[in-house]
Parts: sequence; C-alpha cells; structure tokens
Amino acid sequence: MDLSSKDTPFQSARNASIPKIAIVGAGISGLSTAWYLQRLLPNASIHLFESGDQVGGVIQTVHTDPFLIEKGADNFATLMPDAIQMVDEMGLRDEFISPKPDHRLAQVVRDGKVVPIPNGFSLMQPTRISSIVKTRALSLQGKLRMAAEYFVKRRESTADESVESFAIRRLGRECFERLVEPIVGGIFTARSETLSMQAAMPQFVAMEREHGGLIRGAIAKQKNQEAAERSARQATGARYDQFLAPKQGMSWWLNAIRDRLTANVYLNQSITEIKQLEDQRWTLSTKMAPQSQTIPVEAFDSLILALPSHRSAALLQKPKPKLANLLERIPYASSAIAVLAVPRHEIRNEALCFGIVVPKIENRDVLAISLSSEKYDGRCPEDMVLLRVFMGGAVRPELMEKSDDQLLAIARKEVKELLGVSSLPRWQSLVRWNEAMPQYLVGHNALVTSIRDLLVDIPSLKLTGNAFDGVGIPQCVRGAKRIAEQVAKQFQSN
Ligand SMILES: Cc1cc2nc3c(=O)[nH]c(=O)nc-3n(C[C@H](O)[C@H](O)[C@H](O)COP(=O)(O)OP(=O)(O)OC[C@H]3O[C@@H](n4cnc5c(N)ncnc54)[C@H](O)[C@@H]3O)c2cc1C
Repeated sequence: MDLSSKDTPFQSARNASIPKIAIVGAGISGLSTAWYLQRLLPNASIHLFESGDQVGGVIQTVHTDPFLIEKGADNFATLMPDAIQMVDEMGLRDEFISPKPDHRLAQVVRDGKVVPIPNGFSLMQPTRISSIVKTRALSLQGKLRMAAEYFVKRRESTADESVESFAIRRLGRECFERLVEPIVGGIFTARSETLSMQAAMPQFVAMEREHGGLIRGAIAKQKNQEAAERSARQATGARYDQFLAPKQGMSWWLNAIRDRLTANVYLNQSITEIKQLEDQRWTLSTKMAPQSQTIPVEAFDSLILALPSHRSAALLQKPKPKLANLLERIPYASSAIAVLAVPRHEIRNEALCFGIVVPKIENRDVLAISLSSEKYDGRCPEDMVLLRVFMGGAVRPELMEKSDDQLLAIARKEVKELLGVSSLPRWQSLVRWNEAMPQYLVGHNALVTSIRDLLVDIPSLKLTGNAFDGVGIPQCVRGAKRIAEQVAKQFQSN
C-alpha cells in the first residue's frame, strides 16, 4: 500500500494547525515517545506503526503455564529515574515488585567453579575493601593490583578508549579478565576490546577525570552519600530498590503503556518506504500483514523513527543516503537464550543466586546464566528454578550458526557442570534475538554527534532508540522523552 501524496490526496495538517506525527516502531522507545508527545501536545494527531503483532519490541513476556518467561529484558534499573518516573506518571507503581531478598548475589565462574562477585564491586568499581580482601574471584596478586588502582595516575588524553584498555590500565589484567570483562560483556553482549568506554560507561571516565580514579571516586561518593540520600528522599518522597519488574511480566507494562495512549497504534504494519515531500513533510508506505487495520493516508508533519539503527538506515537509504550510511556504522549483535526449568533440589546450594557471569578466559560456551525464579516472585513453581542461559553475542557470534537443539544441548551441559543439575529440564525453549543489541564501538559518541549534525538540517525527522545514548530501558525512555520535547517545541513555537 503506497500512502504517498501521488496516490492518495492528503489534507495539510499544518494548515489545520493540528500537528500530524508518525512514530515508527512500538518498542519501549516508540511507546514512550508517544506517551510524552500526547502529554506535551494533547491536540496532536499521533500515529504509531509497528511491524509486529504486539507492542514491546525486544521486550516480550510469555506465559506458559506454570511459567512466566521473559524473552528479553526482565527488569530495569531505577538509579537513572526515567523509567520509574514514567511508571509513576501512569499510576502503575503498585504493579511493580522488587527483587526477592533470599539470594541477592551475583556470581562469576573461576576455574570451572561458581564464586561470588565481591560485594560492592559495581561494574568495574571496587567500593568495599573488606569484600575484595576475602573474594575467591581473584588471586592475591590480582587483589593487590586492584588495590593499587588508588595510585594509578589519571589519564591525560581525553580520547575515547575501549573498556579493556581502561580496566587493564586502572585495575590490572586479572581484575579485567575475571570481573570486568564478564560483567560488562553480560550487560552489553559486547567485546570489551572494542566497547567504547565513553559511550558505555561514561560515569567511570568522569570519575577518573574528577577524582583521579575509581577507588578515589568511591571514597568521595561515600562521603557524599548520606547527604545525597537524605536529599533524594526529601525530593521524591520515596526510595526504590535498585531494580524493579512488573509483577505480571514486562509485556504487561508495555501493554499498559499502549492502553494509555490516545495515539492510533497500528500493529502488523511494516513501514517499507519513506519519502519526503517538498514542504518537508513525510509520507509512508507500508506492507500490511493480513487482516490488519488500514493506516491513515495523510502526510505527516513530523516523522520519528524509533527503530534499531540498521532498520532506520534501510528506510533512509533513498531519501537521506548520507545519514543512512552513518547509521549503518552502528553494528548490532545477535544472541540466543535457552530457557530451562530445572528441579530445585538438584541445584548446588552455593549456586543459588540472581545470576552468574562467565569470563571469556574460562573458554566456556555460555556468556551468563540468569536465575529468573530467584530474582522475582511468580516466575515458576517453588520446586523448580527457572534459568535463562545466554549464548552468542559479539563475544561468541559463531554460536548463532548452531541449531536450536544444539544450543539447548550446550546450555544443558553448562548447567550440569556449573550448577550440578543432571536430569533433563522439566521444560525448555530457545529464544533467538537477531541483530538486537547495538554495539557501542570506540568512537561511538563521535559517530552519534555526526548523525545528529546531519539531523539539524532535517527538522521534520527525529531518531530515537537504543542505538544512541544507552541500551538500558531507562536510557531508552530518557531518549524518547527528549525527542518528544524537541518535537513538541517545534509545534508549540509555530
Ligand atoms: C535479550 C535482551 C535482554 C535485555 N535485558 C535488559 C534488562 O534486563 N534491562 C534493561 O534495561 N534493558 C535490557 N535490554 C535492553 C533493552 O531491552 C532494549 O535496549 C530496549 O528494549 C530497546 O527498545 P527500542 O524500543 O529502542 O527497540 P526495539 O525493542 O528493538 O523496538 C523496535 C520496534 O520497531 C519495530 N520495527 C522494526 N522495523 C520496523 C518497520 N520497518 N516498521 C514498523 N516497525 C518496525 C520492531 O518490530 C520493534 O517492535 C535487553 C535486551 C535484550 C536483547
């Protein structure tokens, strides 16, 4: 179906002074853009197009009695407040739960055994000396080198560097290989040797610049913490856990956002072509899945692409080739998750925790294991443990060539060796995510700046999504809110 002005007469929304806005992609980025736009421009005519048969993008919950399975994200962080603020704005806070108290522990594999990540080791920052002294995750030499971080000189250059380079420079090779690489690799499904420090972990770059290092930064933070916590409590009236999840699973939340939208939401509508008219407005062509709704025929004053950057690049290749070429330079990694429900009594007691990350140096076939049922209530019956075993990513892309059965077999073997589960899972399934996780390579921020420079000359086009300023849900919500504010400002000032 071609919706260009040639084939279908459009009414000029601009003349009617009702802004007509199209958003493409109904993941968390597209949904939150629509939510903030409708609040900022209550009279606007907003249209949200999604190629899938449900909203949510890579956030998908499956209810397979008696399990609640997250195929993608299973919670979000509250330290960056944007996601929890949106939850509060919608009055949904009571539907969210905190992680369970029993096994609040993250572990790492060392020499084939599961050992706790030292308490207070936050991504790459040691904050509690006592737990570092006791940890089995590092040798004595590794611990001493980590402690010497206090004396490592601040880097003079302000150029971007890889996570590997930063971590080895400051904390030493062993700490990098045994803690930083698996923790960071698990979050970004990325290779530390190419992952941009400035894009992925700017807080630590800033810490080195401001305080001279990570341990110095931790000391400064501890001094300020009490005062900061007091003022945060006064400011928000609330204190949240560091992570939250909806009781009924992540899709419940995404559907709740959709239900609160006044925007028209069109499912099964894959946008296949976009064209810009001479007056800057945009027309869309869509391939409709059978039995889906028809979409409006007018041109849009503003077009927001809330898509993975390679998808935006494909749509922009004809009308804006330079922009498309830059967007194509952000690579995406693929991964697979084996979901296994195993008998609780078979899991070694010391392995019960929230999650286990696996260093590359251990030469195993899995990146991480998340124990979904230990993190949140209501994920599976008490006599079982629900596991999500992560494979592939940018670290082991060759594994994505394997069949579902082969990947499930790998996951079972690893779970047997690491957790002690020897019987067949009571239930199993494999989830594949193709090109779902953007890779912020060294120089990513400069690339994003170049993309934004080109967008300055195309004010009726906006881009948002996880390709630019962070892959986490709060970052996606923050990016969406910023785009909604920019678009609203354009129409409010007209
Ligand atoms: C396995 C996994 C686990 C994760 N875990 C967490 C976690 O626990 N916590 C956290 O904070 N983050 C997590 N993340 C990251 C986070 O979930 C994502 O970065 C975020 O959800 C991306 O949202 P988005 O809307 O930008 O993109 P997407 O979710 O990719 O949404 C884009 C949407 O656009 C649609 N689309 C694509 N092309 C077209 C087209 N041509 N026309 C119309 N529609 C189109 C797609 O169908 C999709 O619905 C995880 C990611 C993955 C992959």
